[in-house]
Amino acid sequence: MKVAAYAAESAGAPLAPTTINRSEVGPNDVLIDIAFSGICHSDIHQAREEWFTSIFPMVPGHEIAGTVAAVGSNVTRFAVGDRVGVGVFVDSCGECGNCRKDLGNYCIKGFVPTYNGRHYDGTPAYGGYCRQIVVNQGYVLRIPDGLSLEEAAPLLCAGITTYSPLREWGAGPGKKVAIVGLGGLGHMGVKHAHAMGADVTLISHSPGKRDDGLRLGADHFLLMTDKDAMKAARGTFDLIVNAVSASIDIDNLMSLLATDGTLVCVGLPDKPLSVSTFTLVMQRLRLAGSNIGGMGQTQEMLDFCAANGYGSDVEVIRADQINEAWERVVNSDVRYRFVIDASTI
Ligand code: NAP
Ligand code: ZN
Repeated sequence: MKVAAYAAESAGAPLAPTTINRSEVGPNDVLIDIAFSGICHSDIHQAREEWFTSIFPMVPGHEIAGTVAAVGSNVTRFAVGDRVGVGVFVDSCGECGNCRKDLGNYCIKGFVPTYNGRHYDGTPAYGGYCRQIVVNQGYVLRIPDGLSLEEAAPLLCAGITTYSPLREWGAGPGKKVAIVGLGGLGHMGVKHAHAMGADVTLISHSPGKRDDGLRLGADHFLLMTDKDAMKAARGTFDLIVNAVSASIDIDNLMSLLATDGTLVCVGLPDKPLSVSTFTLVMQRLRLAGSNIGGMGQTQEMLDFCAANGYGSDVEVIRADQINEAWERVVNSDVRYRFVIDASTI
């Protein structure tokens, strides 16, 4: 089946309109008419080969929201017209210890990413910057009624990537939690941590984001470049979630942790981070990482957002504005997720 899409033909090339081939709808598949597709900084890292060698042409996009247009003969979980979403992976082995524990995001065989990867049969995976996608029903999420499709799309990556570590490390009442970087991930981290009942601090390198941070649910704002304020905050946080897309001073962040505190990295800068072992040792600190979340937890997160009355703060754009939007993301000038109106592709 031919589908209109936006693709990068080679590393660093601007995105341009094209047509891709999608597989036909198999017995276990759902055909989705995409309504909105979020722009994640990972799209940019990968299309510019900032992480590793990528597969081209690349149709990025792993924050997909739309409606079911057709279902295969074995599909029981979805019907035509349902509001659904697709996130960062579209298959996993289903058999390893992690897959059996709803940790397909840590599949030992390696999950099939929504784009810039290959299905287990070797065909390239194309993402959400297009009009339609075909996905196995096991990798499709239900979008609750209380959320619009545009505010739901970014939850499929930015939402779950911040929700999962906040749950894993127990964000909640009585916990002092800091979120670093108010971008797509960070603004969801602030909203989730607030909804979970934690005392939330936004740490940002942009003084102009103070008011937005407080409006989104932060109780406090800490400017990363304010040395006095950073010094005064030392030893105070139980949990810090670092959602920054660039390499920053990790020792500086870890010094803000209380004894036994944890810094979780979700941001994936192109360069390795360095940390002094003294920083770790002197207060029994923990440095951790976290990668999106399992399917069950992603559905839990969508339901949690709907129950608490929030989605993502989005700026809807036309497909011909994608390249401009990417530049704004790189310049930390997104408030707080660009979402492509797929009808303009
Ligand atoms: P984004 O919207 O660009 O947000 C990143 C934020 O980091 C910026 O808004 C900015 O916040 C801060 N920042 C950027 N450059 C900085 C610098 N030089 N110094 C200090 N702060 C800086 O990106 P995103 O889509 O949220 O993604 C963030 C990172 O997470 C990316 O690396 C992405 O690839 C990664 N990611 C990881 C996962 C996972 O599962 N682990 C999933 C999705 C994305 P302030 O202006 O507030 O400082
Ligand atoms: Zn993403």
